[in-house]
Amino acid sequence: MNSQPKKSSIQSEKALFLDRDGVIVDYVPYLSQPSQVQIPQKAGEALKKWQDAGYLLIVITNQSGVGRGYFSMDMVDLIHKHIRDEYSAFGVRFEEFFVCPHLPSIQCKCRKPSPNMLFQASQKYNIDIERSFFVGDASSDIECAISAGCNPVLLLTGRGSSTSRMLCDNDRKLVSIFNSLSETIELIKN
Ligand SMILES: [Mg+2]
Ligand SMILES: [Zn+2]
Repeated sequence: MNSQPKKSSIQSEKALFLDRDGVIVDYVPYLSQPSQVQIPQKAGEALKKWQDAGYLLIVITNQSGVGRGYFSMDMVDLIHKHIRDEYSAFGVRFEEFFVCPHLPSIQCKCRKPSPNMLFQASQKYNIDIERSFFVGDASSDIECAISAGCNPVLLLTGRGSSTSRMLCDNDRKLVSIFNSLSETIELIKN
């Protein structure tokens, strides 16, 4: 072993990992058009606060609609460009959108609840996962966060209320639960 730590092992950044549907955009099942994008109330202002507190904003999303043939990856990219444009009005910049386009049945490595996309993002941006948060509305988001060692945050928007009813007691102890993205700014301390 080399005594010098490799540069990539210094995890100096912290991130706010974000699910897409039901979190940074209002929940629409298999959202397939930029025109369906609605930014939740106060979400822009909230993400700006996280960003100003030094958190990288990184989206981690399953889009099996691609694998199902409902829409193309090019359309997903257009939708993401539109989301970026909408948030840029608030001074919010997303570092990257990590997308799993696969069908659940092909058992790829990336689909949440796998922590794979979170690990990929962390490696690429030198993120300390333990100092980071993952905000989602589905149990797959919470499981992904917990298995990665990231702090799980559940929003009661989108599919969040049914997710909250399904949480097992163990997970419930680990999860911070909020009504909206704007409430999550309470978590910003240091
Ligand atoms: Mg979601
Ligand atoms: Zn995948």
